[in-house]
Amino acid sequence: PSVRCLGKERTLGMIKPDGVSGNYTEEIKMIIVDSGFSIVNERLTQLDKETASAFYEEHSSRSFFPDLVSYMTSGPVLAMVLEKRDAVSDWRGLIGPTDAQKAKISHPHSSLSCSYSIRALCGKDSQRNCVHGSDSTSSAEREIKFFFEDVVSDDIASHQHDEL
Ligand code: ADP
Ligand code: MG
Repeated sequence: PSVRCLGKERTLGMIKPDGVSGNYTEEIKMIIVDSGFSIVNERLTQLDKETASAFYEEHSSRSFFPDLVSYMTSGPVLAMVLEKRDAVSDWRGLIGPTDAQKAKISHPHSSLSCSYSIRALCGKDSQRNCVHGSDSTSSAEREIKFFFEDVVSDDIASHQHDEL
């Protein structure tokens, strides 16, 4: 399936283990829908060391990589295919910066900006930032395949929505 379809674009959004275990899933989904995205497909799954390492392969040489893999395997994640026009860049904007501390301080006097940066809402620091978003259309294509075509083991629940 193409990332682009009828002028719309698809990206991979993910609620990371801290977001799922912190019970932010419903609130994040409300923000997603309020912001004009359709959740086209979703899958709740437990990543193992191998799948988490493969997903973040590009960071394998970084010093934070072992900690990142432990974090990403610490509980279930909810992977979602999000669709709207300009989904890739709009979702990156909505989640905010990688460092959730920066997300919290970037708009100290604007409750609007704060409430619409998801990492400001539920992230903690530069690692535990509660959500993921593809950084380009090519990453989106790869990451959607990763969760929805390749078989990610230990599936907990998946639901293909009617729009597909
Ligand atoms: P993003 O998720 O914003 O695209 P990156 O692709 O740079 O950020 O990093 C992937 C993930 O690795 C981040 O979301 C975060 O969980 C973790 N990470 C990134 N940088 C650091 C860091 N300096 N220290 C600890 N963890 C980090
Ligand atoms: Mg990234």
